[in-house]
Amino acid sequence: MVAKKRKIVIAIDGFSSCGKSTFAKAIAARLGYIFIDTGAMYRAVTLYALENGAIRSGIVDEDAVEALLPQIEITFRFNPQRGASDIYVNGDLAEGRIRSIEVSNCVSGVSSIRAVREKLVAMQQRMGRDRGVVMDGRDIGTVVFPDAELKIFMTADAEVRARRRYAELTAKGDNVTLEEIVENVISRDKADMSRAISPLRQADDAIVLDNSYMTVEEQMEWFMERYNAAVEE
Ligand code: C5P
Repeated sequence: MVAKKRKIVIAIDGFSSCGKSTFAKAIAARLGYIFIDTGAMYRAVTLYALENGAIRSGIVDEDAVEALLPQIEITFRFNPQRGASDIYVNGDLAEGRIRSIEVSNCVSGVSSIRAVREKLVAMQQRMGRDRGVVMDGRDIGTVVFPDAELKIFMTADAEVRARRRYAELTAKGDNVTLEEIVENVISRDKADMSRAISPLRQADDAIVLDNSYMTVEEQMEWFMERYNAAVEE
């Protein structure tokens, strides 16, 4: 009889728009794991802050965001059509709205607030308590699950990343320019790497995956070798 493989935590961190979620989703489907997009959680708080006056003209009022936190309830519900979970804010579907350029432009300001991180990190740790999860974000291998059995740090050429995000948004009918996206991707990475709390950085024990010129199939092949080695250890 083949021994059942033990369930592990797979942490995927890296720069904006380098395909972390697509990759994480494919891995979760392959392994029968739960996929958790932690960026969506920071985006959901940002959306709520925008809709409730805690961000005005792009300026994030940190105290106002913190005051709103107790009234924000984030939940996930599996959507079989997408093969991933949709995010809900206080029971309202927020999946589409959290991907707007307005949210993208304000999310780094919101994610640098200590109280926001404390709330979301605690939630993420609860969701991964029983292992069997693929979580993607910026601080998963360093802060949320420093004991994750497999840590991947993803990166890709900035231009390639901006083009991918641009294609995604224009396909949805969003009216954005490539320049706007390049600017957002670069400034978000800079802000995420330089913030005081849980900055984006590669965990010492993470393996780097540069997927600039790799297909999803090639990435999967690369991954399965590392996964098999990790579960056999
Ligand atoms: O992954 P995504 O690009 O949707 O993340 C949006 C933003 O959320 C990031 O630019 C970052 O500011 C924040 N984030 C974070 N920590 C995570 C995931 C996302 O600070 N674990």
